[in-house]
Amino acid sequence: METKRCPICLQTKNITEYYSYYSKSRAKNRISNYCKPCGKSSSLIRAKRHYQNNIEEKKIYAKAYQANPENREKVKRWRTDAKIRHRKNLQNCYVRELLRTRNNLTNADIESIPEIVETKRLQVKIKRKLKSLRNGKE
Ligand SMILES: [Zn+2]
Repeated sequence: METKRCPICLQTKNITEYYSYYSKSRAKNRISNYCKPCGKSSSLIRAKRHYQNNIEEKKIYAKAYQANPENREKVKRWRTDAKIRHRKNLQNCYVRELLRTRNNLTNADIESIPEIVETKRLQVKIKRKLKSLRNGKE
């Protein structure tokens, strides 16, 4: 069993706990430096920082992209599809949106109660289940 030490969490883990990727420059598969959970969070942090550092450039790019009517349609379609997907899968963003709009909570309220998103998700699941049962009987 091959293992590797992650420099972020300092744990030694099986290499199956690491992502592998193809390195073009070395022309072979490589194993990521960071374990999967650390790699995920560090890449999210990097992406966020990159966005913050390049926010003006990103805004200009987005504006130019949406100036093209064809792209505007694409973006519209993508947003609608995403909304449907988020609603169907009860994703965090959708559940948080419900808490803000229907329960009049602020983001600070939501952050202050860690279980609230999961609880709301269950509530919506129950409501949907009851509705489908009711409709099935009619
Ligand atoms: Zn790690």
